[in-house]
Amino acid sequence: MAKKLEKVDVVVVGSGWAGGIVSAELSKAGYKVVMLERGKDQTRSDFIGVKDELRYTNRHEMIEKLTGDTITSRVSIGDAALPVRLQKDMNTGTDLGGGSMHWAGSVYRWRSYDFEIRSKTIERYGEGKIPEGMQIRDWGITYDELEPYYAKWEQTAGISGEPDPLGDKRSNEYPNPPMLASPAIKLFKESAKEIGLHPYQMASGNMSQTYTNPDGETLNQCMFCSFCTMYGCDFGSKSDPLATVIPTARKTGNCEIRTNSLVRRVIHKDGKATGVLYTDTRTGQEFEQPADVVVLAAFTFSNNRLLMLSDIGEIYNPETRKGTIGRNFTGQFNSTFLGATGFFNDKKFNYYMGAGGLGGAVSDYDADLFDHTDLDFIHGGGIELRQYGDAAIKNNFVPKGTPTWGEEFKEKSLFYAFRTLTVWYSAAVMPWWHNFMDLDPTYKDEFGDPLLRITNKLTEQDKNIAKFGIEKCTEIVEAMGADIIDQDELPDQFDHAYEGMHYIGGVAMGEDPETSAVNNYLQLWEMENLFVVGGSALPHFSSHHPTPTIGALSYRAAEGIEKYLKESGGLLTKPKSSSVKA
Ligand SMILES: Cc1cc2nc3c(=O)[nH]c(=O)nc-3n(C[C@H](O)[C@H](O)[C@H](O)COP(=O)(O)OP(=O)(O)OC[C@H]3O[C@@H](n4cnc5c(N)ncnc54)[C@H](O)[C@@H]3O)c2cc1C
Ligand code: SF4
Repeated sequence: MAKKLEKVDVVVVGSGWAGGIVSAELSKAGYKVVMLERGKDQTRSDFIGVKDELRYTNRHEMIEKLTGDTITSRVSIGDAALPVRLQKDMNTGTDLGGGSMHWAGSVYRWRSYDFEIRSKTIERYGEGKIPEGMQIRDWGITYDELEPYYAKWEQTAGISGEPDPLGDKRSNEYPNPPMLASPAIKLFKESAKEIGLHPYQMASGNMSQTYTNPDGETLNQCMFCSFCTMYGCDFGSKSDPLATVIPTARKTGNCEIRTNSLVRRVIHKDGKATGVLYTDTRTGQEFEQPADVVVLAAFTFSNNRLLMLSDIGEIYNPETRKGTIGRNFTGQFNSTFLGATGFFNDKKFNYYMGAGGLGGAVSDYDADLFDHTDLDFIHGGGIELRQYGDAAIKNNFVPKGTPTWGEEFKEKSLFYAFRTLTVWYSAAVMPWWHNFMDLDPTYKDEFGDPLLRITNKLTEQDKNIAKFGIEKCTEIVEAMGADIIDQDELPDQFDHAYEGMHYIGGVAMGEDPETSAVNNYLQLWEMENLFVVGGSALPHFSSHHPTPTIGALSYRAAEGIEKYLKESGGLLTKPKSSSVKA
């Protein structure tokens, strides 16, 4: 029998960027907040002395253990799905701060085209350009409406950057100047410019200088230590929840954070959420935490699974194309991040230094910034050269055709260790009727609850966009003067690897409750005191990483929850019925 706790104003599930922002904003506004996190507590000092490639990059110290709860994966309806058990194949976070602690920090706003993708595509090319079954829709919010929230997140996170010359209108500069450009990045930018493109220094969540954000949290200048992606930052130089929103929430005195608290159900009665049921993972004790408002901010997979397990909303059925929970699943798979690698005989680059978000970028082939009339795909991708910093094990590049062992391998591996640069195309991925999430009929977690099942198939659109991107990256690597160029190969089909945490949808936003689950405050249409925040709300995957858009929408959701509490309820946005069932 679960122990019933005292009611609070808001219970938030998850402590990453999404949960952290909502908790900080509502506790600053004076509401009593409880934040529940399934993983353990951690502090900055836990990251001191852990620059250990084997432990973190190869053995995935900060990644969720996948022995109990995980997802199952299949390509086609009708296939049996199998559980994903290797951490290299799914890098979801756990512990205080979530996956937002081991992210890289590359920062891009999504484009005005994204938010009105269906209307803008039809306006320019006609309805025939959108293939049957591609479930793109306008989001119910425009870029201009979301822009102030992007700006707010950038200020909190202390983003370092310079505006993209082809970017949408901005209300202000980034709070910090761009990171320094290394020789590799300079070569990339100069070469891209020579062939008529518009390169710039990508924006980053690694600090170019010491910075104090509007909430009074100080982040330190980045050391370019290169142990950044998949690691926590011991210098306090990466914008993450432990450096920003979590201390902000804590110091209000209104936010109680409970770690080791695995939420297993949203409890509801008469169409309203009344709280959540959670288990203390150390003792097995069950608790009920009642609240006026429930916020799920537990990353795409848990957000979807918790709704499905709690019997809230209708699970998407691909046969009838009805139901909104689990619909519009997408993300970046093995057809994205493909490009070309150059091997240089007479140039050397020091890749032992770097930072997760250090790099150069080009947007000329992104979104609808180029003409798609004669192309067999919509949207596009961003081109990047990243200087993450490669530690000793990773820094082992050889041209295609080199034997994988022996004298020739050793010789080339040593020669090319500092002479290799990769340029990739971070391609957008559209939602399709046949790609979705539901509950697995076979596999269960340690509590006997069904795992989340993902069905995901690559399409011709994905392959065509990737092929185009590989060619564009090759042109840049050629201009950079590489002596050998290896192009990435197109995959035949999805390989069940969910690397990174670029997975979205399932509780996607929109204007029409028939096809969308939440409105533009991320309030569930059918349960007005339940807000589902994070990547689960994004209806398609744009060309770049999702976190700034998740951050912006989290600020918007926090504003909506405050409004909801002040105005004593009601839907914050009026639903609109759409004739196009996207
Ligand atoms: C290696 C890597 C590199 C990345 N690099 C970038 C990048 O450069 N740029 C970018 O924009 N994005 C990047 N990302 C993506 C980025 O990390 C995510 O977009 C971001 O962390 C999402 O924030 P969130 O708050 O929604 O989820 P999270 O930060 O994952 O937080 C969710 C929290 O919910 C908790 N939780 C889940 N289920 C439950 C439950 N049932 N009960 C209680 N708690 C629960 C989890 O433990 C977790 O702490 C990267 C991701 C990875 C893995
Ligand atoms: S590269 Fe910079 S931001 Fe990343 S972990 Fe090192 S010091 Fe921190």
